[in-house]
Amino acid sequence: MINFVFEPLPVPSLPVDGVDERYPIRRIFCVGRNYAAHAREMGHDPDREDPFFFTKPADAIVTDGDDVPYPTETNSFHHEIELVVAIGKDGSDISVDDANSHIYGYGVGVDLTRRDLQSEAKKKGRPWDLSKGFDHSAPCTALVKRQPNELEGKRIWLKVNDEPRQDASLDELIWSVPEVIAYLSRFVALKKGDLIYTGTPAGVNAAVRGDVMSGGVDGIGEFSFTLI
Ligand code: MN
Repeated sequence: MINFVFEPLPVPSLPVDGVDERYPIRRIFCVGRNYAAHAREMGHDPDREDPFFFTKPADAIVTDGDDVPYPTETNSFHHEIELVVAIGKDGSDISVDDANSHIYGYGVGVDLTRRDLQSEAKKKGRPWDLSKGFDHSAPCTALVKRQPNELEGKRIWLKVNDEPRQDASLDELIWSVPEVIAYLSRFVALKKGDLIYTGTPAGVNAAVRGDVMSGGVDGIGEFSFTLI
């Protein structure tokens, strides 16, 4: 029994569809530029450069339809709808062929971004942490268990106040889910509780206080929350 100097905070978690138990979150990884049309809209050439990653704190998660507070220190708060993969088996140096066996389930998330801070960080060669990894920056649905082939051709979409903003197919991912898991596991030992936000399709844009964001991946899940 360890005595802590104060009571540790509750473990951040996601609901799991159809069961009473929740999925405890350890870390949140995010892939940058994983859809060609989005890479182009951000001014990059999508020719299969190696995937790159950034992180968000586990307690940035927002779920169960909770409101998202509009963050401080930004005038350009962007949505990025993303397929989320939840790791269910530990591993490092995972092969592409074996990667699907490390998946617990899937969800749908939004990689919320202070775009103005990110642009400034890019210009100055500074880290993205405060543009990506801030409080309440990682909304996500309940997790569902699916076979990998059930993701094929599925539509991924996001609306703001019912106005379509992002609409694409998971088939447009540059790096597939198994490739992302295999690549990331060369650099860190993935463990149960790790989430991977797999990148966003084109159509990212700003939202303001009072906006309702809704979105989903067909067959995986849907969400709706309000910016307050
Ligand atoms: Mn993203």
